[in-house]
Amino acid sequence: MIPMTASQGKDENQLKLLLKNDMIYRHFETVRGSPQYWNQRLKDLFGMNRQLGISTFFLTLSCADMRWKEFLDVIARNSGEEVKEVYSFLEKANLIRKNPVIAARMFERRFQVFMKKFVKGGAYCLGEVIDWFARIEMQMRGSPHAHMPLWVKNAPKYNGKNTDEKTVLKIIEFCDKYITTWFPSIDEDGELHHYVKELQRHSRNHSKSCLICHGTICRFEFLRAISRRTFISFPYMPKNDEDVELIKIVKKTLRDTNIELNNLEKDKILTWTDFDTILDKYNWTYEYYEWFLSTVHSRPKIFHKREPNARWINQYNEELLRAWNANMDIQFILDPYACARYLMSYTTKPEREMSLLLEATHKECREGNLTVREEVKR
Ligand SMILES: [Zn+2]
Repeated sequence: MIPMTASQGKDENQLKLLLKNDMIYRHFETVRGSPQYWNQRLKDLFGMNRQLGISTFFLTLSCADMRWKEFLDVIARNSGEEVKEVYSFLEKANLIRKNPVIAARMFERRFQVFMKKFVKGGAYCLGEVIDWFARIEMQMRGSPHAHMPLWVKNAPKYNGKNTDEKTVLKIIEFCDKYITTWFPSIDEDGELHHYVKELQRHSRNHSKSCLICHGTICRFEFLRAISRRTFISFPYMPKNDEDVELIKIVKKTLRDTNIELNNLEKDKILTWTDFDTILDKYNWTYEYYEWFLSTVHSRPKIFHKREPNARWINQYNEELLRAWNANMDIQFILDPYACARYLMSYTTKPEREMSLLLEATHKECREGNLTVREEVKR
């Protein structure tokens, strides 16, 4: 960071020099959320990767401020409103909208305590987490969520195509220990049933923002494939024209089976019998089915064990979900580059509004021939 004092800020010549070299915005390195700030944090992340190796999990925690009653109570108490037993949707929205600072500080507090008590220490829900790196992102309506690579001690590491069979089995065992897609019935586990149904279920109608490619593909890849076990699929490269044709047929058949299952699911909860009946209908053995799934993806991918009733359920860690009480996502990292790219994308298009605002102000001031002091003030 370039140190800057008040007297320097008043020195027109010095400011002119910084501005001329487009260095004036580097002072934003200390302003959280600015592109310059994330550029610096990303260097920290690369340093962590060098020291600790490839991270184990990528964890995302969303905010459920409309659901966390203690949140709303604190906001109500602090803004002189009445603390109620139950708030209407409008009351909740108003409380949060009128108090963004308290809402943001409460999230930060909850997040830090959660990490301390359940992840990095305390209950050790993901094993012995050595370290973590978080990027808190604000969604459009201002609700925060945290994206985090985590490093777990003694976790098996995926090493691309060179990964031996024994390690692959260890990864699968490791994933099954910490990640699940289970959607229990009310009788099996009433509490978890509600958590999963309310927090982890993707809408069958999708949402305005999740459909891409002219509304044909869900960017969260829902629905997800039913699977009797957790396995890693490796992309299958067609060797000849016959293969290309076969893959086309397989893809179409997979789509057709999903349509059939969707129709069935309108009236009932899907069971293994429904799934087996569909496989029989297309003359597919389960082994074929598993192999066919691998033809759909162009990168290695983990398919988590998933029962027929959980095609719309995002994977989660049971203990973390119960404790966090908001939507979460957890993935075992197979591709550290994808993980780095994802976080990197924030420095190239970080808090876009802020970046654009700065640029626009800069341009406007230049065109308006404002003095440097006036520009910085803006
Ligand atoms: Zn979707």
